[in-house]
Amino acid sequence: MSGKTGMSKKAGTDGKAEINRNVERNKSAGMRGKRIAGVAATAAVCVLLVVAGHILSREKTGIVTDIEGKEIARLMYGSQTDDNQMGGDRTVRYDCEDRYEAYIDLACREAAKILCEREGIREAEAFGMLVEEEMTVQTTLCPDVMGGLLDVCAEESMLSGILASERAAAVSDTKGHILACYSRSAEDSSRNYVTYPTYAGSTIKSLSVYGPAVEDDIVCWSDLYMDSPYRQSINADGEEEVWPVNTGSYTNRMWTVQEALKKSNNAIAVKVLKDYGVGDSCRFVREAFGLKTDVEERAVLEGKEDEVLPNLALGYLEAGVTMRDLLGAYQIFANGGIYTPMHAVVAIRTGNGEEYYQEGSETTRVFSAETAYVMNRMLKTVVEEGGTGEAAYIEGLDICGKTGTSDESRDNWFVGMTPEYVCAVWYRLPRAGMKNESPAVFKEIMVRMEHHEEIGYQKPESVAEAAYCKKTGLLANEFCEEQKTGYYKKQNMPGECDCQ
Ligand SMILES: [Zn+2]
Repeated sequence: MSGKTGMSKKAGTDGKAEINRNVERNKSAGMRGKRIAGVAATAAVCVLLVVAGHILSREKTGIVTDIEGKEIARLMYGSQTDDNQMGGDRTVRYDCEDRYEAYIDLACREAAKILCEREGIREAEAFGMLVEEEMTVQTTLCPDVMGGLLDVCAEESMLSGILASERAAAVSDTKGHILACYSRSAEDSSRNYVTYPTYAGSTIKSLSVYGPAVEDDIVCWSDLYMDSPYRQSINADGEEEVWPVNTGSYTNRMWTVQEALKKSNNAIAVKVLKDYGVGDSCRFVREAFGLKTDVEERAVLEGKEDEVLPNLALGYLEAGVTMRDLLGAYQIFANGGIYTPMHAVVAIRTGNGEEYYQEGSETTRVFSAETAYVMNRMLKTVVEEGGTGEAAYIEGLDICGKTGTSDESRDNWFVGMTPEYVCAVWYRLPRAGMKNESPAVFKEIMVRMEHHEEIGYQKPESVAEAAYCKKTGLLANEFCEEQKTGYYKKQNMPGECDCQ
């Protein structure tokens, strides 16, 4: 995995001489606005000199606000030994509400990126500009949602006992806005696990396998696949090796696509990926969700497709996936197929109150409304009895989601949703083989949120709810003994069963 870190502790500080030079440069070039106005005033009126002097000595600050405009953090110049550094030629640090660090880090980096793109400057300079120009960054942080999230996930919270020292959680709406997040890293306190890439595990299956395969009518709800190894070989010791292994042993019977997703069957995910196309899957997740798939695409081009099957089918992309990526990707299953990059910044204003940036509408349709709804119903079965995420089930709420584990259960994920929220929970265990508690954590977070009964998922007219035969996966007739309900795109219905 490429080591893209979160916040760097001492970015851009190559020694004292360098810092002093940069301060000098800032004095000559950067200090427009108040200082220049102040100097002009001193020549004219004495009283103004005092006022100007006051302005000059006052520490410059950038402000970060929540969704209602209430201040939640202050950016300022600091010394290199401070906590909460953002890097920069002159070190920029922030003070914020207790335990808001991960959110402020994410929002400030996003604001800095906006400045970088507009001004053609580096991130370090952008942090300086936020302070120097006394900018106000308005975010989508929702204090109530944050409060609920912290109740469950923060240091002294109810679930801190079962959560590992490396952990994170985030809540967004279904339109690309991050409402709250929390991250804790005992390994490196500056690491923000909301934006730090790690293995997605099986959460990727909806994005790289089943979603696109349903979209392209490669599979439907009740298409049958054999639960058996994709590959069997004899190793150097003469022992038989099978791949990929499931959590349990192979059943060697036919499973529906829906059942395979519900129970996170690995063998079937690989087979469906092969049917959809490995190269197509790489391109899809890159174009739709901005995931990095360079290594995998190169392997496909070199004819080594089978070497990267686990990357795409089981969530081991070489470049990793972030929690923010997963929130962004899963929102499409709640909102009918529309992708908006997950963001925290809605507006930036300059010190004089002028609008510098206002969020645009960078939305794209990733899936048809039909695909999104069929996937939504499949993901609902994950939290039903027997699904890997059943601990996330909440009576009276329409919960959907997907679990994911990696590295022999070291990474533990649940990404779930209601019609109003998407919530991702992740933690890393120091050793393998323990139960994934993330669905239960998701539930605790969600019961603390405000839910509006009138808001629901939109079922498109072009999706049919129909009974299928469990034996054949085809549409059931009156003679089919075991029948279940599936959801189908009307353009891709299975044929009629011939049970007699
Ligand atoms: Zn039948």
